[in-house]
Amino acid sequence: MSTGTLNISEIFHSIQGESSFAGWPCAFIRLAGCGHGCIGCDTAYAESEANTIDIEEIIRQTAVFQAPLIEVTGGEPLLQPAVYALMEQLCNLGHTVLLETGGFLSVAGVDPRVHKIIDIKAPTSGVSDQNNPENIRLALAAEPALRQKFEFKMVLGSRKDYEWAKSLLSEHRLTDSFTIMMGVMFGRLEPRELAGWILSDRLNVRMQLQLHKYIWPPDMRGV
Ligand code: SF4
Repeated sequence: MSTGTLNISEIFHSIQGESSFAGWPCAFIRLAGCGHGCIGCDTAYAESEANTIDIEEIIRQTAVFQAPLIEVTGGEPLLQPAVYALMEQLCNLGHTVLLETGGFLSVAGVDPRVHKIIDIKAPTSGVSDQNNPENIRLALAAEPALRQKFEFKMVLGSRKDYEWAKSLLSEHRLTDSFTIMMGVMFGRLEPRELAGWILSDRLNVRMQLQLHKYIWPPDMRGV
């Protein structure tokens, strides 16, 4: 029951490096194209390099890995309309499906079974004014059982970013209901500094490192 094709940058098998699922083996489907130009983007190659692949074939290639998780990522995966059918079909097959999105587009149309990891871009990214406020509204309005399907990710490059993030979390009381993953922009902010701030402020967030960048060379693709 394929319903379309997608422009795919890469399909690969790796250790989930971020999010509350970090450490698990995961099959990744990286969709091509984004266009937001965040400072510090580590998948800029996904802008242009793509193959058009039918949904059935994407599912077939992903199944080979027999991974406990399948993550749909990018680029910005929500730019391609057929991604919704892909996620729905993966859920129907019984997979645990993660979506990682840059947070500029609304996740309103995403299958509710999908675990949504939504970036909230901080000022150092250069695009914090493009965060889509609807995603926070949708998460807050979700029924309790579906709230656990939302998770927010903040990648920080400076103390200023940290103060900005703290204020946003407090404004919406996000730490009361959601997992907030907070990490550093690789090479811009020392993890130890961020850890100190979180502890000092008693901030109820989960600190994350990009695990895959410690296992493999930081600029390696397909991991
Ligand atoms: S949203 Fe993600 S893929 Fe797009 S430019 Fe920003 S970091 Fe890169």
